[in-house]
Amino acid sequence: MLSRNHYDALVKIVGSDNCYIDQAHRQAYSYDATRQSFEPEAVVFPRNEGDIQQVLRYANQNKIPVVPRGAGSGFTGGSLSVEGGIVLALEKYMNQILEIDLENMLARVQPAVINKELQNAVEAQGLFYPPDPASQEYSTIGGNVSENAGGMRAAKYGITKNYVLALRAVLANGELIRAGKKTIKDVAGFNIAGLLTASEGSLAVITEITLKLIPKPKLALTAMGFFSSVSDAMNATYKSFINGVTPVAMEFLDNLTIRAVESAYKKGLPIDAGALLIAEVDGNTEADIKWQIETVERVFRENGCSAFIIAKNNTERDAIWFARRNASQSLKIYGPTKLNEDITVPRSALPELLKRIALIGEKYDHQIPCFGHTGDGNVHVNVMTNRQDALRYHNAERAIKEIFEAAIELEGTLSGEHGIGVSKAPFMDMAFSQSEMNLFRTIKKALDPNNILNPGKMGL
Ligand SMILES: Cc1cc2nc3c(=O)[nH]c(=O)nc-3n(C[C@H](O)[C@H](O)[C@H](O)COP(=O)(O)OP(=O)(O)OC[C@H]3O[C@@H](n4cnc5c(N)ncnc54)[C@H](O)[C@@H]3O)c2cc1C
Repeated sequence: MLSRNHYDALVKIVGSDNCYIDQAHRQAYSYDATRQSFEPEAVVFPRNEGDIQQVLRYANQNKIPVVPRGAGSGFTGGSLSVEGGIVLALEKYMNQILEIDLENMLARVQPAVINKELQNAVEAQGLFYPPDPASQEYSTIGGNVSENAGGMRAAKYGITKNYVLALRAVLANGELIRAGKKTIKDVAGFNIAGLLTASEGSLAVITEITLKLIPKPKLALTAMGFFSSVSDAMNATYKSFINGVTPVAMEFLDNLTIRAVESAYKKGLPIDAGALLIAEVDGNTEADIKWQIETVERVFRENGCSAFIIAKNNTERDAIWFARRNASQSLKIYGPTKLNEDITVPRSALPELLKRIALIGEKYDHQIPCFGHTGDGNVHVNVMTNRQDALRYHNAERAIKEIFEAAIELEGTLSGEHGIGVSKAPFMDMAFSQSEMNLFRTIKKALDPNNILNPGKMGL
């Protein structure tokens, strides 16, 4: 519990309406999508950048941990107060779109703007902000930048980092910095905006974000193909790119996932298919999108696709996407506890990765349904287990470790989207050398010598 002196000091900065130490607030801000719970000692709602500067200056002087928080939708515990201290909850006041600059095609936003609200606002003006995490209805741009969030459109349009032009941020000692410019080109000085992107609240609190926008493509086509084996589907994915098509999305479901969706929703999916792929292409002319989808169909069929369905209208498009959108929640038929990881490998390594995951599942006698973004090599691996069964759960954790080892061996990474937080911190030493970990820790120490910003995360 925060001492009376600290509480009074924080109230002096933000007012008593914006600083809480009661049980209800501490509990409400104690969890995220990992469903782990760590109670902060205080929940503070800064009204503006100045409040954030003062709170950090005070916390730094008194060595109180501070955890910045957007919507708390993280999958790796980034917004959890594992060492107590203050949750800096940005959603109450820091949620304004400050500017949509049509001439320069950019948006300037406060960190707690919801992703979807920004997308709607820019699309109303004919522009497009592509990063679309599945949490877009509630996750914040500040959280997206801090986790470097991706989404379905990453294969063609990239991820959050590809759109961050500039940031304003408050350092641990309360100093305000500006990193980056409104310009597309900027090679003056270190790329601090790049460093803060994906830093999971451990280096600074981001207070304003300038994002690049692009013109919105006018047309799109969606199709679904069925394959007898998951390897065929993975081969078809990377060969589509080689054949000149960069699909907006290329998503897959393996056999276990297809069976789970069919069991839950009875949509007529072929439960014997080894895998299905959903491809979406976009462009500005009918001829362009027609060429793209025909090329995808040809490559799919050359790689063992037995049936290829193109959506003729929005209802059929929604029907195709239904299987993918409902994949995650349908998996509970395989076990009450889901250990969900988001490893990523180069696209051409996907067939080998999926093969190894199947073998690991057999070795530990666990179902491991996989689905996700094959277009960018990002696989959502779901080890279905039972937390109440100690031995089984222990085996599931061993399976996860081996899956990480496989991803790293195949020149991939621990996380394509969800970050490290607390969940994956124990695996950082596996993915990075001692020198690399030392470099991370040196950077952390330079920016936050008292380790007040989101301590206990990322293995730092
Ligand atoms: C159902 C579901 C689907 C999801 N789908 C995807 C997906 O498709 N792609 C994807 O990438 N992620 C996905 N996620 C994960 C999550 O939504 C993202 O990581 C998202 O970017 C987190 O945003 P948030 O506002 O909830 O941040 P929070 O969870 O509140 O915080 C995340 C991290 O950012 C830090 N942070 C937040 N704001 C700031 C700030 N202003 N300054 C400094 N640090 C800050 C926090 O300290 C924490 O470390 C999904 C989550 C759920 C629950």
